[in-house]
Amino acid sequence: MRKPIIAANWKMNIGPKEAEDFISSFTAGLGSLSDQADIVIAPPFVTIPAAVAALPANSGVSVSSQNVSEQDNGAFTGEISTMMLKELFVRYVIIGHSERRTLYGETNAIINAKIKKAIAANLKPIFCIGETLEERDGGKLEEVLRSQITEGLEGISADDAKGIVIAYEPVWAIGTGRVATSEQAQDAHAFCRSVVADVCGDEVAQAVRIQYGGSMKADNAGELLAQPDIDGGLVGGASLQAQSFLDLISAAV
Ligand code: PEP
Repeated sequence: MRKPIIAANWKMNIGPKEAEDFISSFTAGLGSLSDQADIVIAPPFVTIPAAVAALPANSGVSVSSQNVSEQDNGAFTGEISTMMLKELFVRYVIIGHSERRTLYGETNAIINAKIKKAIAANLKPIFCIGETLEERDGGKLEEVLRSQITEGLEGISADDAKGIVIAYEPVWAIGTGRVATSEQAQDAHAFCRSVVADVCGDEVAQAVRIQYGGSMKADNAGELLAQPDIDGGLVGGASLQAQSFLDLISAAV
């Protein structure tokens, strides 16, 4: 049994002050939901310390960053290293989000380097993949997902790969209000799992959790997570208000 994992990606929203209010309402409403799913919040870098400080002990909520450098340290203006994140008690790192791929030129090779760096620091990667609408309509869905997974996981041992969370996020569904049908999502997730099996073996494929991302909300989360290969969600818009994120988690688990 794979435990669901539901992560909030705040993107460039919610500063340190606002995060304190969010975390106090969110944790007050969480109750036993954190026993049923791993809950993760990914604030902007500058908000991470405030979010960590506001989380009560044993809240069952982990903090993630939205990105990390593939370098250790040095002359890399504007970058943040894995070791800096470790000092802040960050546990997860989102790597290869489609906005990083398309707006900031992150390639599969860069993403692979970041995944390796995160694993070396004992941070858990949330490794994002997904096709554009053009690629889907052009019949390239499987080719794109296969190369993203194969190149992203290149050189990673089976043991390490088991701890990676994959987020399948069709780019056309991110922030658009257009959610993949549960059937489209399940088909893509099953395909991703089969590629993980090809690359890392069956045992890893069965252990790896694959989140869906793309306009997930309380209305569709239940149906999506009921699919056999959908093990959680990476949530943008619906994670920006404590109540809507709580509603989504309740619907999902
Ligand atoms: C995301 O940013 O990863 C995402 C899925 O956003 P949204 O839920 O807003 O589509």
